[in-house]
Amino acid sequence: MKFVNHWINGSPVDGDSRTAEIFNPATGEVSGKVAMASVADVDAAVAAAVAAFPAWRDASLVKRAQVLFRFRELMYAHRDELAALISAEHGKVHSDALGEVARGLEVVEFACGIPHLLKGGFSEGVSTRVDSYSIRQPVGVVAGITPFNFPAMVPMWMYPIAIACGNAFILKPSEKDPSASMLMARLWKEAGLPDGIFNVVQGDKVAVDRLLTHEDVKAVSFVGSTPIARYVYETGTSHGKRVQALGGAKNHMLVLPDADLDLVADAAVSAGFGSAGERCMAISVVLAVDPVGDELVAKIVERVSKLTIGPGDDARSEMGPLVTEVHRDKVASYLDLGVSEGAKLVIDGRESAVLGGGKAAETPGFWLGPTLLDHVPAGSRVHTEEIFGPVLSVVRVSSYEEGLELINGGEYGNGTAIFTNDGGAARRFQNEVEVGMVGINVPIPVPMAFYSFGGWKASLFGDTHVHGAEGVHFYTRGKVVTSRWLDPSHGGVNLGFPTNK
Ligand code: NAD
Repeated sequence: MKFVNHWINGSPVDGDSRTAEIFNPATGEVSGKVAMASVADVDAAVAAAVAAFPAWRDASLVKRAQVLFRFRELMYAHRDELAALISAEHGKVHSDALGEVARGLEVVEFACGIPHLLKGGFSEGVSTRVDSYSIRQPVGVVAGITPFNFPAMVPMWMYPIAIACGNAFILKPSEKDPSASMLMARLWKEAGLPDGIFNVVQGDKVAVDRLLTHEDVKAVSFVGSTPIARYVYETGTSHGKRVQALGGAKNHMLVLPDADLDLVADAAVSAGFGSAGERCMAISVVLAVDPVGDELVAKIVERVSKLTIGPGDDARSEMGPLVTEVHRDKVASYLDLGVSEGAKLVIDGRESAVLGGGKAAETPGFWLGPTLLDHVPAGSRVHTEEIFGPVLSVVRVSSYEEGLELINGGEYGNGTAIFTNDGGAARRFQNEVEVGMVGINVPIPVPMAFYSFGGWKASLFGDTHVHGAEGVHFYTRGKVVTSRWLDPSHGGVNLGFPTNK
């Protein structure tokens, strides 16, 4: 049975004896154990990062970029191995795992441009023979705390940019699927990254709390659920750190009557059930503006009935199991709740057939098939709470305005989409909706690496989104230098406030 340990100062480290179990979600069996860091383990990782930081900060931009280029090539060469590790512990199908690696690699490719990204500004002659220029410098030791649903991509939103900017990085991955982090650590070493610049501490709240309070950790990036995001933001900032903490989501797709309903149905099924709905940008609510509801639901049902549910390593599978038994049971509990709240259970995912098994509810492993609830009452728990599984709710609305009000009235503001052929309506939507990432006839509008990713409201605490220019900003501190080289015109004491001359 495998044992996943920490990666500190360029080597695997076993650390404290506390461990947790890792499961194969497709069978429900324990597949290994993961080390759970103690305070001393985290302190060892921080000490290694502190020691390694000065030399890496001083490494030239070109040298840093060259390490990133090599890392990019190694990650690409190992993408299948990485995807297989993800699929075995998360449950998502192999092609989906490859997709997350590809999207993560785009951030590495963006960070390869660090010599350009860190260019400052220069103004000659801001006062007589005085010049001013701005530079950005790394903040020091930074930490990334990441969720189970993208064990490669979400860390890759953070560490390529943090490291390219000259920082030392400590990753605390999800304890549910920890293996990807160790392969990435080995590839960093092979790429020539100095020991101590990329470290991994496995674990839970013990490790997170130590990172949030350690005085040598200067910045924390977090992605996970809203209650923990809020806690991380409040604890980290009260200990003097800069924090960006991305939280949960409940993403709505607004379908106007003029939309192409085949396109909408394809999009709703892909975005609702891809990765078993365990994506922070998944669509979980379809707002069908009258009169499209009945026709759209029929088209969704037709598509869902053709989906193949099965283990992530079976090439025929389009949707895998959920990550844990506890999570599957929580998601499944929303089916009966929805019915009790007045919704109609059109497709019951407990009844779905699983490749190589029987009905989802009776097959060993953490299975729940795609589920469709129609006529979900606006404001009900099924409509408003993050379910984070393959449960798609259809809420019927009478107008664009009613739909917009439901989106803007929600707790979250991560992603949303409008489907219409009316450019004016789409333009109005992008302006009026209170959500950070908006799709127009695009159901999962994840920004490219050179833009920044982040939601509004309870989907993000802090004011900086991840990757893109905001990522570079988050992992660096600005400095403005005003310089005057002595010349004959200097001289004289002046107690007045410096003004241009
Ligand atoms: P989670 O909040 O349970 O865990 C996230 C991280 O926090 C993990 O590393 C975990 O070990 C740690 N953690 C858990 N409980 C903790 C506690 N009490 N104290 C300190 N640390 C703790 O989230 P998850 O279940 O792993 O991931 C799913 C959630 O992440 C969903 O809510 C999803 O919407 C969200 N998510 C958001 C985004 C985004 O970009 N906004 C992206 C991916 C996932």
